Amino acid sequence: MRLLIVEDEPDLADAVSRGLRRRGHAVDVAGGVIDAELRLGSAEYDLAILDWNLPDGNGLDLCRALVRGELVTLGPSRPRVLMLTARDDVDDRVAGLDAGADDYLIKPFAFAELEARVRALLRRDDESSPVLAVGDIWLDPARFVAERGGSPLSLTVKEFALLEFFLRHPDEVLSQETLLEHVWDEMADPFTNTVRVTISNLRKKLGDPPVVETVPGRGYVVRHAL
Ligand code: CA
Repeated sequence: MRLLIVEDEPDLADAVSRGLRRRGHAVDVAGGVIDAELRLGSAEYDLAILDWNLPDGNGLDLCRALVRGELVTLGPSRPRVLMLTARDDVDDRVAGLDAGADDYLIKPFAFAELEARVRALLRRDDESSPVLAVGDIWLDPARFVAERGGSPLSLTVKEFALLEFFLRHPDEVLSQETLLEHVWDEMADPFTNTVRVTISNLRKKLGDPPVVETVPGRGYVVRHAL
């Protein structure tokens, strides 16, 4: 999934983004409000993690604008919002939630807690189970394990993230651009064949019968009825 971290403390932004990348997320970092607005208008984010105090404004106003649809964002729906802040009195927490934040985490926090909240926020509304399953494929984002027919799959971080994205969107034909938007970050070169190569490797590891179908001219799909 594609995440935007809006945080002006470089060490914290760095630690959080490294941790989330290790879990297979594509992560971009913005150091302030203007930078964040630019990025939100140029990539399809699934989740935005917003600090409250930023050098050129505050995350609360950014959250409010995002939730009200006052910002230009790409994609069919706005990113979920997790407010991250040192403010911990009740009024501030209420203000954060009133601004439309989907969740709220107070600094300092344990990375494991941030990760658990990120996972919960990325779950789609129609997903009740934290584990994803299609056919004989089974994936647990929390434990970072995937299996097919009961046998563990040995996937790279990117292959895992790609499979996770497919399992979250069964029966949807996903274009190469969509996959690049949600599974890779801004460091990915859109003109390389990175998506094709990763899909090819994933297919090999998933084995037979084939799981990832090519829809000529449109993209790829994983069918619910495998
Ligand atoms: Ca700050």
